[in-house]
Amino acid sequence: MRIAAELKSPLNRLFVFETEDGYRVESVFYKGERLCISSQVGCPVRCAFCASGKKGLFRNLSAEEMFNQYKLLKEKLPIKGIAVAGIGEPSTNVSEVEEALELFKKEGLKVTISTSGYPIKGFKRLIRLNHDGLTLSVHAVKPETRKKLFGVFEPLDDILNALKEHLSESSSSRRKKFQLGYLLIKGVNDDRENLELLGRIAREMRLTVMLMAYNEIPGVGFKGVSEQEYEDAFLFLRKMGVRVTLSNRFRRDPLGGCGTLTIGREV
Ligand code: SF4
Repeated sequence: MRIAAELKSPLNRLFVFETEDGYRVESVFYKGERLCISSQVGCPVRCAFCASGKKGLFRNLSAEEMFNQYKLLKEKLPIKGIAVAGIGEPSTNVSEVEEALELFKKEGLKVTISTSGYPIKGFKRLIRLNHDGLTLSVHAVKPETRKKLFGVFEPLDDILNALKEHLSESSSSRRKKFQLGYLLIKGVNDDRENLELLGRIAREMRLTVMLMAYNEIPGVGFKGVSEQEYEDAFLFLRKMGVRVTLSNRFRRDPLGGCGTLTIGREV
């Protein structure tokens, strides 16, 4: 694997890597401390709002290829943690993610993971790994909204039941390592019904919601909410008694923000 290009915005640094067999994947260094790496070339989940899965899945990245994204950058960047939240769905590549996690741990790095929960079998294994934080990307609660957003998905009840089972057998410090992610997309999942259902789930499971603002991606066709609408959704959940955190500005950057990473970027 080699670094094919580096792109910079005022906030983020995005690295394009070329694999031995000529594929391109990406990592983003954000917040001046964390590297968000890719776990696959493409993504089988093919979320309608995300650039990473547009062409589907080409292949899994090996643990070594995940680790190499860090190894090739560690001398030039003050990397303190890893997020397995770039291109790919970790629940479909659990064994390699597990091995990569061990490699990162040996370097003294904390590792967080984001997953859509598909497929359930992989999700059940993923949540039990030795991670330092896992975000379940819910993004919609009503089945008809989930259909609009995810190319493939599991029934949300099945995903939540798997998570509940794990949480019920976990210590309170372990329970704190889980949260729900919700990407607000204008006119699609920002309705009160979805948000209320989300709030009820978060309350019942005592999980924090990370409410993310959508980055509009050219050619993808979805719109982000306005600042006011974002704040309204935040306050709505807060009034329900839900703990909510908001996207930081690094995640809202058109370069390297959530959903913007892509395979085969022309450089
Ligand atoms: S949001 Fe995540 S799961 Fe969905 S297509 Fe993008 S990388 Fe895959």
